Amino acid sequence: MDLHPIATPPTDDERDAVDAVLGPLPGDGDVFHSFREARALRHLLLPALHAAQARCGWVSPGALGYIAKRLSVPPAEAFGVASFYALFALTKRAPTVVHVCDDIACKAIGADVLCAGLASSIGPAGEKWLRSPCLGLCEQAPAAMLTAAGEKPFERAWGHATVASIAKALEEGSVAEPPRAMIHQTEGLRLLRRIGKVSPTSLDDYRAHGGYAALRRAFELGPLGVIREVTEAKLVGRGGAAFPTGRKWEAVAKNPVGPHYLVCNADESEPGTFKDRILIEEDPFALVEAMTVAGLATGATNAFVYVRGEYALATERLAHAIAEAKTRGLLGSDIMGKGARFDIEIRRGAGAYICGEETALFNSLEGFRGEPRNKPPFPVDVGLFGKPTVVNNVETLVNVLDILTEGAAAYRALGTPDSPGTRLFCLSGSVARPGIYELPFGVRLDALIALAGGVPNGRPIQTVLLGGAAGVFMGPDELSLPLTFEDTRKAGATLGSGVVMVFDDETPIAPILTRIAEFFRDESCGQCVPCRVGTVRQEELLARLSRGKPFGSLGQERTLLKEMGQAMRDASICGLGQTASSAIESALRKLPIFRHEMAEVAS
Ligand code: SF4
Repeated sequence: MDLHPIATPPTDDERDAVDAVLGPLPGDGDVFHSFREARALRHLLLPALHAAQARCGWVSPGALGYIAKRLSVPPAEAFGVASFYALFALTKRAPTVVHVCDDIACKAIGADVLCAGLASSIGPAGEKWLRSPCLGLCEQAPAAMLTAAGEKPFERAWGHATVASIAKALEEGSVAEPPRAMIHQTEGLRLLRRIGKVSPTSLDDYRAHGGYAALRRAFELGPLGVIREVTEAKLVGRGGAAFPTGRKWEAVAKNPVGPHYLVCNADESEPGTFKDRILIEEDPFALVEAMTVAGLATGATNAFVYVRGEYALATERLAHAIAEAKTRGLLGSDIMGKGARFDIEIRRGAGAYICGEETALFNSLEGFRGEPRNKPPFPVDVGLFGKPTVVNNVETLVNVLDILTEGAAAYRALGTPDSPGTRLFCLSGSVARPGIYELPFGVRLDALIALAGGVPNGRPIQTVLLGGAAGVFMGPDELSLPLTFEDTRKAGATLGSGVVMVFDDETPIAPILTRIAEFFRDESCGQCVPCRVGTVRQEELLARLSRGKPFGSLGQERTLLKEMGQAMRDASICGLGQTASSAIESALRKLPIFRHEMAEVAS
C-alpha cells in the first residue's frame, strides 16, 4: 500500500504525548520498521488521539500524521476516525474551553438563557466555550465541562452552571471537586446502598461494607454455578435491549473459540441518563468486582471498560480502583490466591452516542470509526477483535453481586415475575428532587415522580419523556403505568436506560422536539440511507411545523412522520435509526403542540 504521510511534523510535545501511549519508537527510529507490529497497535488510535489533544488542545495535522505513521494507518483513514468523534478538535482552538450542555434536560432548565449570557459576557460560541450534547449531569442541569490542555491536562464536568462559574473555570483552568452524589431515597437501596456512605477511593472501606463477598461466592460456585444463579435470577440487560444476561454469559462460556473478551459498556450517552456515571464515581470497586465475577464465569481473562469521554471523574476513580485491586491481588494473574487470571483496561469514548451500540463500540475499541456492524454474527460469536465477547452495561453487572451473595430466589422476590429485581431511574426536568432512584420493578410512574417531590410549585405535569431521546412521551393521563418491561411494552413505551424526564405545563415542548431531532441527525453514523436521510427529514418536518408552514395540514405531516419512522424502523441496521422518530412521533400524537403555530398562520 502507498502511504502518503502528512508533511507537517509533530511538535515535541505532540510526539512525547503520542509516544507515552504507543511506546518509544522501534530501535532505529524507522516507524515503518515492522508493519505488522505497528498495525497490532491500531486499537490505541483513540487513546493516542486523546493524548495529543490533552497536551495541545487539538489534534493538529502534525499530531495526526505522526499517529498515522506510528500505527501504519493511511492518514486519510486516521482523519476519518478522528473526525467521527465530537470531542476531538481538528482545527486549532484555545487550550482551555468549556463545553456547555444544551441538550433536552438542560434546555428545559435554562441552557439557552445561559448560552445567551455567555455570548454577551465571554464571547460567541466556538472560542472559549462550545455548545455540547448531553454531558450526563441531567440531575444538575444546566451542566458544563471544562477541558484544559497542557502537561497536566484537566477535565471536569459540573452542574448548576452559571455564567460566573464558567468564567471562573476558564480563568483558573480548574473546577472544584463536585459534591458527593446526593441520594434522596433512604429505603430499599441495593445497588446504591454504599453510595455516600463508603469512600469511593478506599478498598478497605468497600470490603468493610460487604465488598468482595460476591467474588468469594463465585469461586465457591465455579463458572457454571455463577451462570446458573444469574440465569435463575432472570437478570436482563439494563441498557435498553433487555436481553437475558445468563444466556449471553452461557453462550460465550461455551464457545470453543478463544480468547473470550468481556466489555463493560459505560458509554451511557442517552440524553437524560446518568446512573452508570454515579455508580462508577461513587462505588467503583463494585464494578471491578462484578466484572471479575463475569470474567470468571465466561472464561474471559481480558476486559475493557468503555467509559464515556465526558466522564473524567468516573474514569479517574475507576482507574484508581483497578490499580488498587491489582496491588491487593484482586486482579492480575492469581486472584485471591486461586490461580485465576483477569485484567481490566479502561478506554475512553470521544463523544459519539452511537458507540453505546455494542458493535459500534467494538469498532471504536479497535481504533475505527464507531459504525455499527451488521448482526448476525452476534458478539457472543464474533465480537471484539473477532472473538466471542460478552457486553454488559454497568448497572447490569453490578446487579450480579447481590444475586450471588443473596441467591437467585431472593433476587426474584423483588419486582414482578417477568421483571425481577430493582431498577435505577434517572429523574430530571421539572421535579423537586432530581437524581437517581432505585425501586423494584412495578413502581408506578406517578409514584416515582411523587418520590422525587413532584413538580415544583404544584404545577401540573405536561408530559414525561420515558426512556430517553429514543423513548416516548407519556401524556398526563398515562402516569399510572407500572414500570416493568412487560407493562411498558404493552403500552407501546420503553424503559430504555431508565430516563424519566418531567416537563411541567410551562415548558415549551416544540424546542425540545427540535433538539431531539437535531441530536439524532448529528449522531447518525450515516451508513444506512433511511437513518441518514430520515433523521434530516424529520428535523425539516419539525422546522416546517414550528414556522406554521406544514406540507398540507398538521395531520398530513403526522402521517408523513409515521411513514418515515416506519421506514427507519424497517430498514436501519441499528437501534439509533430504529428509534430516532419514536419520541417525536409520540409527542405529535399525544400532545397538543404546534396547533398555536398553525392557527397563527391560518389567521
Ligand atoms: Fe448508522 Fe443510523 Fe444505520 Fe445505525 S441506523 S448504522 S446510526 S446509519
